[in-house]
Amino acid sequence: AARIALLTRDLRVHDNPLLSGDGEIVPLFVLDPRLAGLSANRQRFLHQCLADLRDSLRDRGADLVIREGDPVAETVRLAREVDTATVQVAGDVTDYAQRRERRLRTAGLDLRVTPGVTVLPPGAVRPAGGGQSYRVFTPYWKSWERTGWREPAATPRTIAMPDGIAPGRLPETPAGESPDALAGGETEARRRLRAWSGELSRYADEHDDMAADNTSRLSAYLRFGCLSPLELALAAKATDSPGAQAFLRQLAWRDFYYQVTAAFPRISTQPMRPSADTTWRSDEDALQHWQDGLTGVPIVDAGMRQLRAEGWMHNRARLITAAFLTKHLGIDWRLGLRWFSRWLIDGDVPNNSGNWQWTAGTGNDTRPYRRFNPIRQAQRFDPQGEYVRRYVPELKDVDGGAVHQPWRLPEPVRRGLDYPGPLESHRDEAVWLRN
Ligand code: FAD
Repeated sequence: AARIALLTRDLRVHDNPLLSGDGEIVPLFVLDPRLAGLSANRQRFLHQCLADLRDSLRDRGADLVIREGDPVAETVRLAREVDTATVQVAGDVTDYAQRRERRLRTAGLDLRVTPGVTVLPPGAVRPAGGGQSYRVFTPYWKSWERTGWREPAATPRTIAMPDGIAPGRLPETPAGESPDALAGGETEARRRLRAWSGELSRYADEHDDMAADNTSRLSAYLRFGCLSPLELALAAKATDSPGAQAFLRQLAWRDFYYQVTAAFPRISTQPMRPSADTTWRSDEDALQHWQDGLTGVPIVDAGMRQLRAEGWMHNRARLITAAFLTKHLGIDWRLGLRWFSRWLIDGDVPNNSGNWQWTAGTGNDTRPYRRFNPIRQAQRFDPQGEYVRRYVPELKDVDGGAVHQPWRLPEPVRRGLDYPGPLESHRDEAVWLRN
């Protein structure tokens, strides 16, 4: 009998265990009404991914079956139509995905859960002294490096699909909100990967250089599975490039937060260390300034504006802006997480929550009381101020690193800038910032 490949966040034909192997396959994607809750940026990207995948499947003699509704009910309905009980799905860790798996099983389907969302599935690396998951990255990374990987799935040349299944309609691609957002889809992902691979040799030295902007920008493609993380890891490992190790380490961070989430599924709302989660201030005004990129601290504002313009933010800027919200403004990390989730195309539960909790000190950072001085960060990672001037046009005429501290400019110059001074509610910190 045929099997249903229930595609979720594995929207690709390369190294996709769901689409590889013998026998008839029915590739299915269910547009869950809950997806309407995704940000406009992410909805747009998802639609582009689906359109691209449909083309790739058609090139291989199959099609993408699109259904709208509850994924479990629609899968059961299609299984009856096709006369099969076999359903394959990629293993995933969020609450939502876990519930979907349980419901598919109790609906009487023969559910086969296969890897593909991470390089190593959660549970592949376990702490030596017992326990479900690692809470600290460095020991995880050491074991991750030593653990063997699965063989990638063969890319199918043709896919046999039973006749007579109505493919259903893919709705129009919705408009996004960020004017400079990346386009979705496996084809675009592979094009970007090819174009970027030459940069890998510089990755170790430059991935924190905000102006150089030389990171891969593959995160959204990993988020929707347009690229296989395993394929990416294998490709990095196969080069002798000095950047490969640093890049693999970042992919291991991604795996790390998936295994944390598998063990701690409430990660997006509950602190991992409750004792560090008690003293958040309520300050609507400061939150608004942060969201709008109008805090008066240029490196923070540049990051926040990049987020809206591109649906993406440089990792160093994510660290600086998140630390600024939680450690300096004292505002709850969940509010920051929600804002990131609204705009980031790559926004996903494990990485967004894991990183926010790390920055806020409620997670698994081994130095929870770490503070990021945004000015020192700016001077170190954007020494010439190019990143700031790219995103904060009000400061485009301020030369060099002076752009990071507009309050130090001579009074007449400062008055001529249409740019706010540091936030009122941030007054004490403003003193500290000037030092
Ligand atoms: P590269 O530097 O090219 O790295 C390659 C890949 O490694 C990335 O695509 C990503 O999949 C992975 N990676 C890199 N850094 C991290 C990290 N710190 N944690 C986990 N995986 C990492 N990443 C997301 O994918 N989704 C999120 O929702 C997300 N939210 C974040 C929130 C905060 C507060 C912070 C500090 C970081 C967040 N990150 C998130 C991690 C990181 O910033 C992005 O993955 C990275 O900037 C994506 O750009 P890139 O693809 O060019 O990365």
